[in-house]
Amino acid sequence: MFNIVVYLRRHRIEWIATGVAVLSVVLGLFIHLYPDNLTHIWFFNVGQGDASLIKTASNQYILIDGGPTDEVVGMLDAVMPMWHRKLDAVILTHSHSDHATGLLSVIDRYPIGAFWYSGAEYNSETYKALISEVSRQEIPIQLANQNDTLLFKESKLEILFPVIEKPFSNDPNAVSIVNTFHYKNFSMLFTGDIPTSEEPGFIASIQDVDVIKVPHHGSRSASSNSLVSAAKPEVGVIGLGADNSFGHPHQEVVDRYQAVGTKLYRTDQDGTIEIVTDGQYYKVL
Ligand SMILES: [Zn+2]
Repeated sequence: MFNIVVYLRRHRIEWIATGVAVLSVVLGLFIHLYPDNLTHIWFFNVGQGDASLIKTASNQYILIDGGPTDEVVGMLDAVMPMWHRKLDAVILTHSHSDHATGLLSVIDRYPIGAFWYSGAEYNSETYKALISEVSRQEIPIQLANQNDTLLFKESKLEILFPVIEKPFSNDPNAVSIVNTFHYKNFSMLFTGDIPTSEEPGFIASIQDVDVIKVPHHGSRSASSNSLVSAAKPEVGVIGLGADNSFGHPHQEVVDRYQAVGTKLYRTDQDGTIEIVTDGQYYKVL
């Protein structure tokens, strides 16, 4: 008799424990996916490349670049609610495959409100396939031009570069779309792989920002002293693969940011980086 009571008690405790565990997972998912009126920015760990997702406070989704593989699709699935499988805007900063490749799978899976790119020509199979697929699916195409503003209710995204009336350079990095995302007092600068040689084309409009997506994976060809001191970011995120063959991030670039007090995060060491903000305060997760 005693043994039966002990057996039942023990199993009841196990059942209760299982119930509590299941309930917390369900609640956790619900709380995680439920609209929280905050802005989230994920800088995904896609290896040597860039892919960032912004969820605005009013639940609009903006994807900037898709990284070098189709891995980004699983990452989007993990953070977007099941009932909201739509990207309001996709921005391709430039045509190189470490930014463009993942978007081919993204546009296959998600309805896209608008596709923003520079319109520059570039002879790469991936890029040509992506642009022709965007046209075939009749996704509205927008050419990003300096001073364009994308409005997302209480947030906005300002295009600082390039200028589409000017002839484009043959170097895709040099026509990277540079833009600032604003939500109340919070701002983040997205830079693609823009090299220092092109900074004079937009540096006058750079203001103090909270966060910068460090241009060109921390390469010494980007992030001049002038850019770093104009932006004075508190936080910098670098998208790169561990032991990449380029030696990114270059030490002098790391030093330059640290000299203005920027705290750097890197996807090869920190994994996917998430920033959450209410427009006044923000934290890095
Ligand atoms: Zn790149």
